[in-house]
Amino acid sequence: MRGFEKLDFENLATPSYVVSADLLEENLKKLADVERRSGAEILLALKGFSAYSTFPLVRKYLRGTTSSGINEALLAREYFGGEIHVYNPAFTEGEVSRLAEFAHTIVFNSQAQLDKFADFARGRAKASGNAGLEIGLRVNPQYAEVETQIYNPCAGGSRLGARRDTLRADAAKKIDMLHFHAMCEQNSDVLERVLSHFEDKFADMIPQVKTANFGGGHHITRADYDVERLVKIVRGFYARHPNIEKIYLEPGEAIALNAGIFATRVLEIVQNDAQIAILDCSATCHMPDVLEMPYRPQIVGAGNPGQKAHTYSLAGRSCLAGDRIGDYSFDAPLKEGDILIFTDMAHYTMVKTTTFNGVNLPDIAYWNDALGKMEFIKKFGYEDFKSRL
Ligand SMILES: *Cc1c(COP(=O)(O)O)cnc(C)c1O
Repeated sequence: MRGFEKLDFENLATPSYVVSADLLEENLKKLADVERRSGAEILLALKGFSAYSTFPLVRKYLRGTTSSGINEALLAREYFGGEIHVYNPAFTEGEVSRLAEFAHTIVFNSQAQLDKFADFARGRAKASGNAGLEIGLRVNPQYAEVETQIYNPCAGGSRLGARRDTLRADAAKKIDMLHFHAMCEQNSDVLERVLSHFEDKFADMIPQVKTANFGGGHHITRADYDVERLVKIVRGFYARHPNIEKIYLEPGEAIALNAGIFATRVLEIVQNDAQIAILDCSATCHMPDVLEMPYRPQIVGAGNPGQKAHTYSLAGRSCLAGDRIGDYSFDAPLKEGDILIFTDMAHYTMVKTTTFNGVNLPDIAYWNDALGKMEFIKKFGYEDFKSRL
C-alpha cells in the first residue's frame, strides 16, 4: 500500500491510526506549490488534524495554523509556533486576554464580540509585547453549496459569521481582516461562486482591510482538484483589491487527506439476519463522521455488498445499536484476528474520538516509509478514560 510499503501489518497493534509521513509530505508539497504560485498563505486548521507529532514536518511547509479556540491555540503555541490564528463563535474575556498575548490574529464572529473585545484585545496585546496583533471578523457571505446541513455555515439561522445587515457601517474600521468560511470538501469552482457573493455583500468593507481569509473546505490535495483555477482566483482577488496585502486559506482536511489509515481487527463473527463482524473499534467513538456525515469509508481489498464472495455487516464494539460501519464484501471469509485497513482516516478522526462506553482510544502512530520506521506511537488506557470523567 502506498505510503505503507514497509509496514508490518501482521504485527501492528489495533485499533490504531497510522499517519504516513511520506503521504503527508506529498500533500504539503502540493500546498506549498499553491502558496508559491498564488501568493496565498495556507494555514493548517487544527480542528481537522492536530496530531502534533507530525508538526515538525508540517512546519517545514506551512507557516501557521488556525485554531477553533483557546486549547487548539495553546497547542499551536507549544508545538507549531509561527502564525497563530484563532476564531471562535463567542470568546470569553479570559480567553481573549490570554490569546492577545501570543496570537497573530483573533477573528471575532459578530458586531457584539467586536464591540466587547477588539479594543480590549489590542490593549492587552500591546501591554504584553504582542503589539502586532491583528483583528479579524468572520462574515457570512450568505451563499454556500454544502448539501449536508449540519456542515453548512450559511444555512438559515446560522450563528457562524456576521451577516452584512448585522454590522454597523463603521465595523471595518476596527478590523484588519475579513474572514469567511463557507465550504466543505469542495473544488475551486465553488470558491469562485462563494467569493463573488462575498465581494458583492461586503463591497464597502473589503477596501478598508488589509487581509482576507477564504476559510477552509478547499479540497486542494484531492486528485481532481483544479489547482490552476484556485491560483487564478487568488491572483484575481489580489488584482481587484490592491489594498489586500495577504490572502489566507485555512484547510484542515486537505492537509491530511488520504495520508493515514485506521487499522482494526475482527474480534468475532455473529450470525443474525446477516453475517456480522464485530471489530475492535467503534464508529461512534473512533470515526464518528461515518455516522454524522454520514459516509461509507473505504476498506483495502473490500467491495460493495455482494460484489465479492463473502459479505459482512461491520459493526463496532460499543453498545450503541447504530454503531455500524456498513456492509462490505471480501474474497475470503473473515475470521477472528483478521486485520482490516480503513483508508483516509487521518483527518476528523483522532480529533473527534470519545471514550463513550469506556471503549479504549486507538493508538496513534506516525510511520516513515522511506526509513521503514515508526517514528512515534501513543497508547491509551484506563487512565485516559478515567481522567475525562
Ligand atoms: C472547519 C474549519 C476549517 C477547516 O475546514 P476543512 O473542511 O477541514 O478544510 C477552516 N476554517 C474554519 C473557520 C472552520 O470552521
